[in-house]
Amino acid sequence: MRKPIIAGNWKMNNTASEGVALVKAIAPLVKDANCDVVVCVPAIDIPAVSEALKGTNIALGAQNVHFAEKGAFTGEISAAMLKEYGVRYVIIGHSERRQYFGETDETVNKRTLAALAAGLTPIVCIGESLEERETGKTEAVLEKQIREGLKGIDDIAKIVVAYEPVWAIGTGRTATAQQANETIGFIRKTIADMFCPKCAEALRIQYGGSMNAGNCKELMAMPEIDGGLIGGASLKAPDFAAIVNYDK
Ligand code: PEP
Repeated sequence: MRKPIIAGNWKMNNTASEGVALVKAIAPLVKDANCDVVVCVPAIDIPAVSEALKGTNIALGAQNVHFAEKGAFTGEISAAMLKEYGVRYVIIGHSERRQYFGETDETVNKRTLAALAAGLTPIVCIGESLEERETGKTEAVLEKQIREGLKGIDDIAKIVVAYEPVWAIGTGRTATAQQANETIGFIRKTIADMFCPKCAEALRIQYGGSMNAGNCKELMAMPEIDGGLIGGASLKAPDFAAIVNYDK
């Protein structure tokens, strides 16, 4: 059975002290969670939030990692730097990085392989734009992102995939539970074909895109959906906790 995983993506929100206050507010609310709980925080928040998470059941995640071990890559951060502060997860290929920072399937692939080699769990984001969905290209777009972004991975179950339709991110417009379930089913089928059916069965695939306290139960009840990557609703402790506790 796949253990559900709910991860917050704070994006460029919360200074270190705000982040510490937020995780201190979240921790008691999620202490009995039945799923894996993760907060993916801005790089500069990592040391302080890492300290604040000690003794909790919340794991720490980053929002990006470079593929080189070290060197002349101004503004980037390496896997070793993240690991030193107890980071366990890292978001890779978020649509905002693809859209604003030139992330491609090739760089997603390089970052993913580097994260795995360092023992981090990549949360690899894929998803189609509104135009792509409306013109019937969703499956072709996802298949390309999967085949190019995930190639060369030894054990696919060591990553998490986040299916995030770009049109649902930060828009308040959620994919219906059926749409999300069907598309994640397609993603799993493609991964079964590319790797192996057993590996695809073991892989956790999250839904992301305006998931909130009101719609999480219906989304999480879908057989293909193994969790959520949460943007806006991860910034308020009660909202994030309500999603983590979707089964209560
Ligand atoms: C995200 O950024 O990954 C996301 C899903 O954002 P939101 O929940 O705000 O749509």
